[in-house]
Amino acid sequence: MTDHDPDTFDTVLQNLPYFAPLLTWQQKAWQQTTTQFYAGKLPHGILASGMAGIGKRAFVWRLVAWLLCTDKSEYGACGLCPSCTWLKAGTHPDLMVLPLGSLPTDDGDEQPSIKIDEIRTLQEYSHTKGQGVRVMVLNNADTLTVGASNALLKTLEEPRAGVHLLLISDNPSRLLPTIKSRVQALPLGRIEHELALSYVVDKLGDENLARLALDLADGAVLKAVDLPQMAWFDKRQLWLKTWLSLRHGQRLPVSASDYWQGVLDLADFVVLTRLILMDVVRVGLGLGSRHTDIEVMNMVGDDVPSLVQVENFLANLDDVMVAVGQNVQEKMAYDELFCRLANL
Ligand SMILES: [Zn+2]
Repeated sequence: MTDHDPDTFDTVLQNLPYFAPLLTWQQKAWQQTTTQFYAGKLPHGILASGMAGIGKRAFVWRLVAWLLCTDKSEYGACGLCPSCTWLKAGTHPDLMVLPLGSLPTDDGDEQPSIKIDEIRTLQEYSHTKGQGVRVMVLNNADTLTVGASNALLKTLEEPRAGVHLLLISDNPSRLLPTIKSRVQALPLGRIEHELALSYVVDKLGDENLARLALDLADGAVLKAVDLPQMAWFDKRQLWLKTWLSLRHGQRLPVSASDYWQGVLDLADFVVLTRLILMDVVRVGLGLGSRHTDIEVMNMVGDDVPSLVQVENFLANLDDVMVAVGQNVQEKMAYDELFCRLANL
């Protein structure tokens, strides 16, 4: 990259979420937020919440860059001023992000949750006298302990001019109501279906696949784009065939288990199992399969387990995953799961 090559420079910039183009379904949220800012009415605490894969973080990182940028336009940060340059380098004196390691420029060693000491540091940081804008981001804010949440409340209750606190949460129902009541939720959750679909079609280049992926992702646009690349995605029909041959006694659980251990790791197999079984339940209830590219209804026929049976099985599945987390061998868990599948 040279300073004289604006095209290359643009590409490098757009690969960083701070300077990436606004996602098409976030126009309204962006306009609302920037208008509030220009009117001096942007609340101190802002919450980006909603299910995973709708672009909350993409929005927040753009907003972070924009709030800090000293040469911003209504569309986004400039990418060139000292503030934007600091962001690119991954060290900005006026930005604090928790848990540590969750900056877009960090290379993936994110801490699992935010500690109470860190919230206290954040509190001090928000009180430090400084000029201009300061931004604090709490990623996965729903993982805060009660103690940390209470410490955070103090910060939220004492807004300072120029200080912005941005909370990100995939599970907002786990946030304390006292916190939720002190932050303004960004309107990121309602995504117009046509906008979502055209985005996914554009990324995947196939309308049928895009419709399927968007449906299986429950409308989470970014998740839908990634779905076809998941290891389990093209194994859905194979899963059904295996299950049916187990049920009909045409195959032994242990041999099927051995086979699948070479195909998917257990976590992916569990995701796939849950997805297809929920679909089998749908078919049993006469709702029609969501997997429009497989003949689920024809394959399973009338003999499907009841919702209660499937729910019990899925609860067991959770227990199996917990056991694996506690050092039960993956092979044992796989074998156990196949025995249960054969009897479902
Ligand atoms: Zn800038």
